[in-house]
Amino acid sequence: MTHDQFLSRRAALFGGMCLCCMPTLLRAQATGAPQPAPTVEVSPGIHVRRGVSEDATAANRDAIANLAFIVGRDAVAVIDPGGSLHDGQSLRLAIRAITQLPIRYVVLSHVHPDHIFGAAAFNDDGAVFVGHASLPEQLAARGEFYRRGLEKILGDGQVESVVVPTHLVRDRDELDLGGRVLALTAHKPAHTMGDLSVLDRQSGILLAGDLLFVERIPVLDGNLKGWLAELAALRASGVQQAVPGHGPALVPWATAEAAQRRYLTVLLDETRAAIAKNVPIEDASTSVAQGERGNWQLFDAYNGRNVIEAYRRLEWE
Ligand SMILES: [Zn+2]
Repeated sequence: MTHDQFLSRRAALFGGMCLCCMPTLLRAQATGAPQPAPTVEVSPGIHVRRGVSEDATAANRDAIANLAFIVGRDAVAVIDPGGSLHDGQSLRLAIRAITQLPIRYVVLSHVHPDHIFGAAAFNDDGAVFVGHASLPEQLAARGEFYRRGLEKILGDGQVESVVVPTHLVRDRDELDLGGRVLALTAHKPAHTMGDLSVLDRQSGILLAGDLLFVERIPVLDGNLKGWLAELAALRASGVQQAVPGHGPALVPWATAEAAQRRYLTVLLDETRAAIAKNVPIEDASTSVAQGERGNWQLFDAYNGRNVIEAYRRLEWE
């Protein structure tokens, strides 16, 4: 078979596209110019881009977390800039389609890649990057590991270095957008070792980051009992509506939080029971919380990990 015959045969096999072109095309898709991200205005001035309920892939460009921006009289705040440079650029275009006000703050809710790797898209805005006081330390420990992992998925050169926040929150703080104040709370270890939530005082809406998962299984990377305690504190604060880190753009707090609390409580109780019965951690990871399986997307991908995370901490308590 000549080279030409080989190519034409291969082209026939792959629908007119030869194998050697496919990686190039896939790369072109992955580097395609960003388009304004689709957003919904869940309340006047609060715009949310809903993430897809998938793990990161080259096709979704890690646009899997919910992102938001809030428009005040004088300025804009971004609450989570996205999972990749492309994701952040798409969010920035969505902002610019709505307002020309300066983007003054970019809040990084926590260390996970799907929430932070879009930050570099806002470097030229002169925005102040805001994070939990422990975030720089966590980024120093994990940032490059996350960056390389994401680059394996999105392609070489597709993932910018992490942006380290300079405006750090230890307990509580406020950001003023001009007639619109955002109240920030730095939480004790919960979903991660450093979660930052944002309450828009004007609407009373809580931008919960990954302190709240809806429909997609919660991921534990901090402290299970601590997470339940932080949820109890938020419940006591009287929050009515929230933008979760994953799931619909806006949810009633009470029902969403109750569902997540149910899962986390089952995880806690059944992990403790497994430890008490000396069930090995590997066996626990496939048996604990299985009754929750039908309630959550991506359950099989994360429940076992959650059990292992919970078990390791609880076995010393
Ligand atoms: Zn997270």
